[in-house]
Amino acid sequence: MLTDRLVALNRENRLPSSLLITAASKEQAIEAAKVFLCEHGTACGECLSCHKATGRIHPDLIDIAAMLTAAKKPPEAFREAINRAVFLPNDGELKVYLFLGADELKPLYQNALLKFLEEPPSYVRIIVTAESKDKLPATLQSRLTEVRSDNEEQRQSGKAEETAAAIMNAIKDNSEYRVASLFYKVAIDRDRLLYKDILDILIEQTPELDDTDKRVLLTERLLKLRADGELNPQLKLCAAESAALLHI
Ligand SMILES: [Zn+2]
Repeated sequence: MLTDRLVALNRENRLPSSLLITAASKEQAIEAAKVFLCEHGTACGECLSCHKATGRIHPDLIDIAAMLTAAKKPPEAFREAINRAVFLPNDGELKVYLFLGADELKPLYQNALLKFLEEPPSYVRIIVTAESKDKLPATLQSRLTEVRSDNEEQRQSGKAEETAAAIMNAIKDNSEYRVASLFYKVAIDRDRLLYKDILDILIEQTPELDDTDKRVLLTERLLKLRADGELNPQLKLCAAESAALLHI
């Protein structure tokens, strides 16, 4: 579950301060906001802060999309909401700004969001949702850490399993061309999460080696391809990019 993954990150103090949640519903985004706002850091659903967030009456939860819909003069209301970030949180230690459906926001607001992401106050957390990462401008993508919604996680894990199975078959057939091409297909999408999932599956399926060995083995296979002068340029690029991604 998305909330469980966020709570786990929070427990390890690794919860990013600016999140992009893809393919998430409004309810899922509010649940994510609760992880920041909850008195226990667990989105417990029981504390006063969680109750306020559920009731959409939490003073430190700023829902930009709802505010834009309700405002008589949306651009002014937007500016005002961002300007108010300088005021400390009302209830707890953090203030959460929600930008739901940021891929559908006008460029005017997307630009303002970008500026906001550059230097938010230390107590501000920003949650952005979008149908998919590539629907957002590249500048916004680079300032956000992607976390998948449950739907997206399911879709991607199917995709990862399928690709990993194809890579395993290619490895069994000793077809380095196919191995490299399959890795390349993932590499060109720059989808690091998917890439990591595929590697994890591959590592799980080859139990005779420990994790480090497997990563090295896979990397070597790709590096070998990269060094091969006979490869066509596209395949060489593929091996280079895939190998670079393997070191994430
Ligand atoms: Zn709570």
